Amino acid sequence: MNNMIKENLEKINYQIQEAVKKSGRNSDCVKLCAVSKFHPLQSVLDAVNAGQLLFGENRVQEAIEKFDGLVNSQNKINGIDLHIIGSLQTNKVKKAVQVCSTIESVDRIQLIQEIQKRVLQIPGKSIRILFELHTGEESKSGFENAYQILKAMELFDQGEFPNVIPCGIMTMAPFTDDEKLIRKSFIEARETLETINKEFPDFNMKELSMGMSGDFEIAIQEGSTQVRVGTAIFGHRDYSKTEGINQ
Ligand SMILES: *Cc1c(COP(=O)(O)O)cnc(C)c1O
Repeated sequence: MNNMIKENLEKINYQIQEAVKKSGRNSDCVKLCAVSKFHPLQSVLDAVNAGQLLFGENRVQEAIEKFDGLVNSQNKINGIDLHIIGSLQTNKVKKAVQVCSTIESVDRIQLIQEIQKRVLQIPGKSIRILFELHTGEESKSGFENAYQILKAMELFDQGEFPNVIPCGIMTMAPFTDDEKLIRKSFIEARETLETINKEFPDFNMKELSMGMSGDFEIAIQEGSTQVRVGTAIFGHRDYSKTEGINQ
């Protein structure tokens, strides 16, 4: 049992609760997704032992290597839940839908078509998706604006993707110390979700996945419902160790 991970989780959960309180929001309105990319299975297990059940991974192959024994294609085992949060190539979708409940990094309509096609092959399963919104300068992927997401929502509205559930928006703020720029990015995501909900109220999309190790408190002030925290839980990532794994 790695006490560092346990202590970090306690600290982050405390900081989340404090930020929630300060923002005058209801307790339990923000979920913590532990981003375990580039960290070994043992770190995931240590986090599970400390009570953490929701995880995020960027790369499908790495996700499968770690989570194959922890989740199955139909059900969560012991409540463990995996989200894919990194940009996803079309040819990885088939494997992705076997291991995750949610794909947060949906950045094009064609990807939704592929998710629908692949999830249909798993009886009884639906996949939740978030639309990735490009708000930060550095990140390359994502829908550019509400208009593009509305076009995707029209297809949902026409019943094109019966096994895919649109649940909200994910964004990454720019990597900067400028709090104003970070906040601007989170506000844009929140307002975009409001715009989409106005046009398509029946879908009642609630999720705003925003905030990482360096900026989750600002994200919570701006309405985040899920923060994705890696470094502050598992420590720095050693990119050299997993060079063999490619996306
Ligand atoms: C890596 C990653 C995170 C976690 O970032 P940290 O700064 O380590 O907390 C969150 N979201 C996405 C999409 C990521 O790729």
